[in-house]
Amino acid sequence: MDPKSQCLELNDGHLIPVLGFGTYAPEEVPKSEALEATKYAIEVGFRHIDGAYLYKNEEQVGQAIRSKIADGTVKREDIFYTSKLWATFLRPELVRPALEKSLKNLQLDYVDLYIIHFPVALKPGDELLPRDENGKIIMDTVDFCHTWEALEKCKDAGLTKSIGVSNFNHQQLEKILNKPGLKYKPVCNQVECHPYFNQSKLLDFCKSNDIVLVAYAALGSQRLKGWVNLNHPVLLEDPVLHAIAKKHKQTSAVIALRYQLQRGVVVLAKSYNKKRIKENLQVFDFELTTEDMKAIDGLNRNMRYYLAPYGADHPEYPFTEEF
Ligand code: NAP
Repeated sequence: MDPKSQCLELNDGHLIPVLGFGTYAPEEVPKSEALEATKYAIEVGFRHIDGAYLYKNEEQVGQAIRSKIADGTVKREDIFYTSKLWATFLRPELVRPALEKSLKNLQLDYVDLYIIHFPVALKPGDELLPRDENGKIIMDTVDFCHTWEALEKCKDAGLTKSIGVSNFNHQQLEKILNKPGLKYKPVCNQVECHPYFNQSKLLDFCKSNDIVLVAYAALGSQRLKGWVNLNHPVLLEDPVLHAIAKKHKQTSAVIALRYQLQRGVVVLAKSYNKKRIKENLQVFDFELTTEDMKAIDGLNRNMRYYLAPYGADHPEYPFTEEF
């Protein structure tokens, strides 16, 4: 088997490629770059593509996938595409229409994985971040267990192969797992995870419940103003990562990605740069030693880059819990 197709089995029997291509870029980046970068990522071997309605580029990402199917590089079933249900669509009756909107933008018949993007519900409507006249984000009250039941129906309808969550803490996962009448367990929890915030407790919890942890910001995030705490040090400049990279003749980025694979985490890497997109696939070319893994574990400092700059006063805000 081509190592680039390496997969983990999800708790519903579907396979998820362990390395995923992150597609988010900020508003000021032309959408055509999402198209070109995704096409290139598929050409060089990425098979797992991570997208979302929120990213406002599913049209271009879908176009990239379809063009690589049309030119014979891949078949639809070779690609694992994730989309995410944004927070303004958590009311159960809005779930299927939201997924259908993503599918329409993508021009695909189904997604492989559909996940609740964030457990805090925001006011439904056209604004993705609805604000009141004082600029304060307007929240909504939705029991995400009801949202989950609507996701289960989307899976039954064949609009998505698998369903999962993102940015849930372990208590929120437990709430779904213990929900009376649960039909499908979440297959994954996609969360911020990197050597400075390695999520070891959440990872143990997920593993013990057969839920795959998917790591975002695995390279230390794109350091976007307003979304990320810019006072935190740059992950890829870490001297320990540098030393391990030098030893293996790799880069710190590839070491940070490899770290996740060796602890059973599915890892996302965003790049719109051809050289770096290709470089990130070197993650399959070598192995970290037990000592390397221990040294990287030692870098943990519970340092979250992403601020999630809203929802802190909402009862479902996930990041006040330890894990
Ligand atoms: P990331 O993957 O941690 O880091 C991306 C940054 O590292 C980019 O600025 C990229 O710049 C650079 N980079 C990539 N490869 C590199 C390499 N080999 N060497 C040096 N630098 C490299 O970024 P992220 O966007 O925070 O997270 C990845 C993906 O996770 C997102 O795109 C999105 O799909 C997903 N995500 C999900 C959530 C959620 O709430 N579920 C939140 C955040 C992100 P260049 O493009 O210039 O290479």
